[in-house]
Amino acid sequence: MRDADFFRRWMDATAAAVEREADRLTELDSPIGDADHGSNLLRGFVAVRGALAGAEPAAPPGALLQLAGRTLISTVGGASGPLYGTLLRRTGKELGEAAEVSDEELSEALSAGVAAVAGLGGAAPGDKTMLDALLPGVAALGTSYRAAADAAENGARATVPLIARKGRASYLGERSVGHQDPGATSSALLLDALADTAEGAA
Ligand code: ADP
Ligand code: MG
Repeated sequence: MRDADFFRRWMDATAAAVEREADRLTELDSPIGDADHGSNLLRGFVAVRGALAGAEPAAPPGALLQLAGRTLISTVGGASGPLYGTLLRRTGKELGEAAEVSDEELSEALSAGVAAVAGLGGAAPGDKTMLDALLPGVAALGTSYRAAADAAENGARATVPLIARKGRASYLGERSVGHQDPGATSSALLLDALADTAEGAA
């Protein structure tokens, strides 16, 4: 079972990964976007870390993820803030008030969270967005957290030859081909941080 401390560690590990990779995320957002994805997420996850540090010590997993999601929505300008915010809020809502959740419950909640991202952004698989990492990632959660992280990483890499059909990159049409999607790349970081946390490495 996964308790609130697990979710705090997951969000801390994500913030650390975003700090480490912020420059790379911004570089990826430069040819097919406006070069702000790293700084957007850095601002957001630094705020998440602060919000969770100030959260009630007894807050359950669901409440922590909802707080993280609300914090991303209020601090990240840009498409990715509401999208990641929705992912974490919906996942947290699915977890409810339970003090501990099973891996299966977390897997189902994350699937609902990813479905909410698709509902909000209207993107389909292959549109060269964060969903191209999130969908294969959550689909592999039934195998293991590491399998999910690997599937998300492969999904992010597989965005390179795609034509962007949603978000800023879609304005480029065929010129978006040949570049890895920044949001898919950061989604792989989120699931990699989850796997590290589950393995006790974070
Ligand atoms: P902005 O595009 O507003 O500058 P960011 O640079 O922070 O925001 O995030 C860009 C990322 O957001 C893209 O790489 C893509 O993965 C994701 N994204 C944009 N629009 C959508 C959408 N409609 N559905 C899913 N993901 C999207
Ligand atoms: Mg951008």
